Amino acid sequence: MRLDTDPYLARYAERVRGMAASEIRALFAVASRPEVVSFAGGMPDTSALDMEVVEDVAARVIRTAGATALQYGGGQGRAELRELLVQVMAYQGVPAHADDLIVTVGGQQALELIASCFVDPGDVVIAEGPTYVGGIGALRSQQADVRHVPMDADGMQVELLADLLAQLAAEGRRPKYVYTIPNHQNPAGVSLSSERRHRLAELAEDHDLLLVEDDPYGLLDFSGQTLPSLRELVPDRVIYVGTMSKTFAPGVRTGWVAAPRPVRDKLVLLREAADLCPSNLTQMIVETWLATQPWQEQVKRFREVYREKAETMLTALQAEMPDGVTWTVPRGAFYVWVTVPSGIDTSDLLAKAIEHRVAYVPGRGFYADGTGGDQARLCYSYPEVARIREGVTRLGELLHEELALVRAVFGDDAPQVRPRRQAPTSGPGG
Ligand code: PMP
Repeated sequence: MRLDTDPYLARYAERVRGMAASEIRALFAVASRPEVVSFAGGMPDTSALDMEVVEDVAARVIRTAGATALQYGGGQGRAELRELLVQVMAYQGVPAHADDLIVTVGGQQALELIASCFVDPGDVVIAEGPTYVGGIGALRSQQADVRHVPMDADGMQVELLADLLAQLAAEGRRPKYVYTIPNHQNPAGVSLSSERRHRLAELAEDHDLLLVEDDPYGLLDFSGQTLPSLRELVPDRVIYVGTMSKTFAPGVRTGWVAAPRPVRDKLVLLREAADLCPSNLTQMIVETWLATQPWQEQVKRFREVYREKAETMLTALQAEMPDGVTWTVPRGAFYVWVTVPSGIDTSDLLAKAIEHRVAYVPGRGFYADGTGGDQARLCYSYPEVARIREGVTRLGELLHEELALVRAVFGDDAPQVRPRRQAPTSGPGG
């Protein structure tokens, strides 16, 4: 038997057989060394939490309701928590009723349950291009045919969605749903403009579309601005996904779905088959956090922390990047999306970047169609401010060197990078 052959291969379900870890994953193991400034993982800065307060909250749960906290719970999640999550949504202007909600193990489980609820192999699902790697992963695990709609500084180009819908209709195909991250998108760092939200809602009505609105970052606008949610505009057509990962802590693995009732019922059945129920312990920690702490103040603190880090990164990019490199300007959350000049392939460059002690996520992982080889995601949420400067300086040096090489070989006519499939991997935290 060859060692590189998986002896279980013939036994796997077909949808699992083609799954493989990205070659990028091995590099991320190196990228977590302390000498490397990692812009790879989409990790919140949990050091911005007051740990004594969190300790108190967790201890209070065990002290006052330990037997319940350590018991099984219901598949929909605790009613007390759902009531409080409705208040979190209301703080952002998103309407909901506690009965509409299902508590999930992070937003990620919600995306997986939604995909398994709606997608048969080969079904078309439309997503922004680029889009969240974990969203692509959930869709791939159901063998969806993911079609992308390009983005610009105002988010998804909704008129191009209209074109894609017409093209699909001509092929006799209907998308199962449109997956979108309207606020401070991962990885593009841009938001869907207000006009486009209304246009998307209109298209949803005209084409009888279902929208999956994934919204982990809506409360993390640097100036506290919120735009109308799709759920607000066309509630019967929207499955809304929220999470406490970015406004409290990803370690509690608490997310939720707000869905029309028939969909909610199916999702509860699917979740019971997957994991019976969410953890009572972490639900009660989140509940106690929301009920007893000024959580809105913590949200403001996170906004400040990320605003400072974003400014640091943008100033450093301006100073350090060679001509021809462009990037998006985030107004909230975690991400800057970078495009490099022709001739540089960000997947191939990553190993050298890590030698230069800086890491990012190559763009291809954010597309289902292998494009994005000239793009990369930089996440500034986790490294300290001084490290962000240092990391961008290192990346700038590398890109200057690389561009000099490309020019020496090709002059000004370097070839475009080619599409190449890459398994969706983004490092820790998506
Ligand atoms: N959606 C998006 C767009 C994300 O960026 C993430 C995490 N990075 C998630 C969903 C899932 O996060 P979690 O499971 O921690 O809620």
